[in-house]
Amino acid sequence: MARHTSFRIGGPADLLAVPRSESDVVSAVRWAIEKSLPLTVLGNGTNVLVADRGIRGLVLLMDRNLAEIRIEGHVVYAEAGAPLLKVAMQSARAGLSGLEFAEGIPGSLGGGIFMNAGTSLGEVKDSLIDVRAVTWSGDAATVPVGDLGLAYRSSRIAELGLIVVSARFGLRPSSKEEINAAMERLRSHRVSNQPHWARSAGCVFKNTERGSTGRLLDESGAKGMRRGGAVVSVLHANFIVNEGGATAEDVAGLMREMAELVLRKTGVALTPEVRFIGDWDAPVWDNR
Ligand SMILES: Cc1cc2nc3c(=O)[nH]c(=O)nc-3n(C[C@H](O)[C@H](O)[C@H](O)COP(=O)(O)OP(=O)(O)OC[C@H]3O[C@@H](n4cnc5c(N)ncnc54)[C@H](O)[C@@H]3O)c2cc1C
Repeated sequence: MARHTSFRIGGPADLLAVPRSESDVVSAVRWAIEKSLPLTVLGNGTNVLVADRGIRGLVLLMDRNLAEIRIEGHVVYAEAGAPLLKVAMQSARAGLSGLEFAEGIPGSLGGGIFMNAGTSLGEVKDSLIDVRAVTWSGDAATVPVGDLGLAYRSSRIAELGLIVVSARFGLRPSSKEEINAAMERLRSHRVSNQPHWARSAGCVFKNTERGSTGRLLDESGAKGMRRGGAVVSVLHANFIVNEGGATAEDVAGLMREMAELVLRKTGVALTPEVRFIGDWDAPVWDNR
């Protein structure tokens, strides 16, 4: 799976399916049930750490094969595999505001909804209307945003047993210049503060009630910590970078060391933002 994740880490999946439509997703889920295979959903793989042993059962890869984007009035419809940033840019070109926050987020629309992705400019739940989803029992349904439990970098989508296939966002008309200027400010902040070009999964830990976890890690002296090929970025202490040859165990081990350091120095317990996927020795993380 390494080539399907932004960390470029992870062993093989037993089976991989790339759906092109909602009915493909329904068929794949029903087939997996019939064969008693575990099912894992993946978008762009930019917020996951896939185990070195890989993933057992069937992986549903929601990628550019399921990526239609349509704009009708103030409503944007997009399929789960569409890049979130592309949805935001098409909305911006149509003079619709509400998705500017997505500048620089490299994930898919489905992954963005699952994570309630966001930045200082907002997050998915601010403008999401509803999703079309396939349940883990193989039925399709429309689910309103209020039922998805979207909160800071989390949702109840896994708990509800849903695979997001498409979504609708309600946006506001605004001047294209203002939308582009907001996105440009975010872009230039990211370029100078994050190793956006490197093999990473963005911030590995969530922020806490004490504010930025990047700052807590920096003040605790985490920058430059290393395990194998996995290194804490010197540009942003909440990013782990795969400098080459890092394993999932390297990254998970480094995350444990970072969390222990912050707990010792500040008393704050960190929670992973990155999702551990695949064939791990359970539990990968005590407090996730
Ligand atoms: C350089 C960099 C910068 C980043 N900056 C930000 C940022 O500013 N803000 C932010 O919030 N995040 C950021 N991220 C993290 C990441 O891009 C987001 O969390 C993104 O929304 C994940 O989308 P994805 O498609 O890659 O999801 P994946 O990593 O593929 O999956 C994440 C989770 O979502 C589930 N999932 C994926 N698709 C679906 C679906 N269709 N239905 C049901 N479940 C699904 C998966 O099972 C998994 O549990 C950054 C990452 C990188 C590498």
